[in-house]
Amino acid sequence: MEIIYFEPVFQEKIWGGSLLESHFGYQIPSNQTGEAWVISAHRNGVTKVVNHSQYSGVRLDDLYRDQQELFGYPKKPKFPLLVKIIDAHDDLSVQVHPDDLYAMKNETKELGKSECWYILHAEPGAEIVYGHHAQNVEEYDQFIKAGDFDKFLRKIKVKKGDFLEVTPGTVHSIGAGIVLLEIQQSSDTTYRIYDFDRLDNSGNKRELHLDKARDVIQFPHQDSPYNRPNIAERNTNTALVKNDKFTIYHGIINGQLDIDLHKDKYYLGNVIEGSGELVINGLSNKITIGEAFIVPYGDKTTTVKGNVELILSHPN
Ligand code: ZN
Repeated sequence: MEIIYFEPVFQEKIWGGSLLESHFGYQIPSNQTGEAWVISAHRNGVTKVVNHSQYSGVRLDDLYRDQQELFGYPKKPKFPLLVKIIDAHDDLSVQVHPDDLYAMKNETKELGKSECWYILHAEPGAEIVYGHHAQNVEEYDQFIKAGDFDKFLRKIKVKKGDFLEVTPGTVHSIGAGIVLLEIQQSSDTTYRIYDFDRLDNSGNKRELHLDKARDVIQFPHQDSPYNRPNIAERNTNTALVKNDKFTIYHGIINGQLDIDLHKDKYYLGNVIEGSGELVINGLSNKITIGEAFIVPYGDKTTTVKGNVELILSHPN
């Protein structure tokens, strides 16, 4: 079975850097490149197929609509997931996302956003914001009124290999010196709480959305039970998270490993270290760090060969 590779779409950001080029060999537009959208059918950046015998140049949104057999004749009207690699040269804004219900009522044609992070690189001491210290909305109002973000925000140190689930309502921010893989619902709805009083290139502060954030933040904060520190097992394919939106697997292969990909699902794949081959029903597909692909729906017997680290996922 032939897999479907995609070409990334880049997003320049005031907090972006140049590690997407040095780490993954991507041709980035500038040294303020914050995000590579590597599998996306979202209107703000749609990825196209590359190196395929039939579909090279086709956009993922068109492929999903027109070639339904690749996706198992899905009932969802739009491709549900979005995969990004993020290079935080500087701190991202502190933010929170709504769930589907809130987004449906308060946004135009957008889903909520459940996301998760696999840390690919972290400078020593690098931190994320994950959660907060307000017990209830009244305490939140006091922190915001006083501008006391140091007391409000909960910061934690991260290392390469850490995994975090960021459910809707979780206050979060990626700190400077971190590169991560993000798998999320295909949505671009972000409520910004704090932006470190930064100015953009035109001298303006970016907009905050404190009222909507207040509506959706979880009080008090609760950690996801799926969060886990670095895992370094060899020749395994481990489930990291299974929630109502997606299931994510992490595989480290040194040599050869047979993996069980269900015939009634299609999978999104990201190569996060090394290189090797994905052999499906006897056909070998070469895979190298930075590449993103979809394994189509259907019967598959799958073996991974090489020295390679993979994240595989499917929508639920
Ligand atoms: Zn987010």
